[in-house]
Amino acid sequence: MHESVLDAVGATPLIRLRRVAEGLAPRIYVKAEWQNAGGSVKDRAALWMVRAAERSGALRPGGVIVEGTSGNTGIGLALVGGVLGYRTVIVVPDTTAAEKIAALRAYGAEVRLTPGGIPGDDPRHVINLAARVAAEIPGGWLADQYGNPANPRAHRDTTAPEIWEQTAGAVTCLVAGIGTGGTLSGTGAALKEKGPVRVVGVDPENSAYGGGDGSPYYVEAIGHYRHPDTVTDTWPENWDRTVADEVVRVDDRTTMLTARRLAREEGLLLGGSSATAVAGALRVSRDLGPDDVVVVIAPDSGRAYLSKYFDDGWLRRLGFLTEPGPDAPAPLVD
Ligand code: PMP
Repeated sequence: MHESVLDAVGATPLIRLRRVAEGLAPRIYVKAEWQNAGGSVKDRAALWMVRAAERSGALRPGGVIVEGTSGNTGIGLALVGGVLGYRTVIVVPDTTAAEKIAALRAYGAEVRLTPGGIPGDDPRHVINLAARVAAEIPGGWLADQYGNPANPRAHRDTTAPEIWEQTAGAVTCLVAGIGTGGTLSGTGAALKEKGPVRVVGVDPENSAYGGGDGSPYYVEAIGHYRHPDTVTDTWPENWDRTVADEVVRVDDRTTMLTARRLAREEGLLLGGSSATAVAGALRVSRDLGPDDVVVVIAPDSGRAYLSKYFDDGWLRRLGFLTEPGPDAPAPLVD
């Protein structure tokens, strides 16, 4: 029994993969982050960032939570803000799916739209505009998920100990995608302090984290896209490159086909970043033994992506099922 929805953040189960893992020696589990109150792993970071800001005095009663995001962090912040009585303003690229914007508004967030697909150093870029909005609004506090240490701290304090306890210390390999890097850096660093755990980052093939050129790709919410006109490009502070032992690259086609298999063969309707991470985990598991226990972070559900990854027409237009069609939609570039 929870006294507040905020207590329904964290304590997510591990679920073993069966059919998609056939023929592989280790036990492979997904950490069911879609079961968090707001539906994603980002609820943990949102709650920890808000609580830290309250403690430091950066966010005071009557204050306003501000963030630039197209995704789950906004939902988490809006949820936490609503429950704790803060106004929440989320700056969103206009390329964001209408359902996501509607969800933010449903949780009570004020949404400010800005052009998507522009260079990271353009002042109108979602992250830069959010910083300006936070500075201009009286009582404004920028959550700053890319640089805020409370983001990886949430995973140090909650995700990692949960995994350690749930596996009774048997976990030997952690696999996760990289958006801000908070999940992988925080969970990975804390697990490594507890035992010899191999930490594997998984990245879309074109993304720059794993050595790609930063050109567009279709899986949402992970990776590092680099607009061709970008002059200065920096890694997020929360991506601690000393934590991952390796970064495995997974192409979009493999992600889409893995997402379909997870739904059909495991009964797990998961988002694209989960599918990318599972595909990476299946690959590294080929080199692991029967004593290995692999934990894969599955950040959100596939419900938000039914019209993309789970739509045969969309997949076919892009050539993920057959050949690319002439009306293939452009990759996501916000
Ligand atoms: N998957 C999804 C669906 C997400 O929303 C995010 C956050 N952008 C991530 C993966 C990456 O998590 P992190 O920011 O902790 O690296």
